Amino acid sequence: MIKLVGVLSMPSYVATCKCGKTFRYLSTISKRNEPTECDCGLMANRDVEAELAPGPMIKLVTENERWSVSMGVPVSQIAKFKKLYPGSTYDSKGRLLIKNRKDKLRQCKDRDMYEIS
Ligand SMILES: [Zn+2]
Repeated sequence: MIKLVGVLSMPSYVATCKCGKTFRYLSTISKRNEPTECDCGLMANRDVEAELAPGPMIKLVTENERWSVSMGVPVSQIAKFKKLYPGSTYDSKGRLLIKNRKDKLRQCKDRDMYEIS
């Protein structure tokens, strides 16, 4: 588990390959500008513009499942909130599982909460 956190905290960059594929890869800061291998077998170069651009890459991040602390509940009240909001999943720390952006908006609406950002 500690090892996994270490891997996830490694900076990630975006590369675009000659085959047209744009993908995220992990690298140390010192090696971030070295070409990285694409699924197609070619070497892809870092694409700084794609890293900074909003759009597909941002979507890739926000569509991931994550645990929300802000919509979480005290551990002692998990059972109560599960009854109140059927279909909600809380972890052992009381954080709410957000499956994707659509799910987040629905969960916010159920709770009369609004997105700040
Ligand atoms: Zn490729």
